[in-house]
Amino acid sequence: MVGMSSVDRIPSAEPVTLNCPRCGNRFSLMAGLKWITLHCTGGHSCRVEELLEPGSPDLESRLRQLLRDMEQKGGYLKNVAEDARLYGYPEVADTFQREAALLESRIRLLRDLLPDEPAPPPAD
Ligand SMILES: [Zn+2]
Repeated sequence: MVGMSSVDRIPSAEPVTLNCPRCGNRFSLMAGLKWITLHCTGGHSCRVEELLEPGSPDLESRLRQLLRDMEQKGGYLKNVAEDARLYGYPEVADTFQREAALLESRIRLLRDLLPDEPAPPPAD
């Protein structure tokens, strides 16, 4: 029988490895259905579009990494939902299904914001 402990291990915030341009604190949370907003520990919030200035390949690659992390987490959430349903926790399954759907909508948003191909490094 599956324990509920596996549910507790899931982090509530996305793993964001970006720093706030205003105070330098680490962004700790992202939210939004129609756009993605990052929130830093200093209380600022910033839309991803604002950070994605042309010619910031470093940020772009970190956002790509974030995208991969989110995809991984989305797959994990779906697995947990399937397990929960299998072992007779339908309400837990629904919760994780909703989380996964929310995450997927953010993944689509983020993917739309990123250019198709990584920009080549500028010739110096
Ligand atoms: Zn800040």
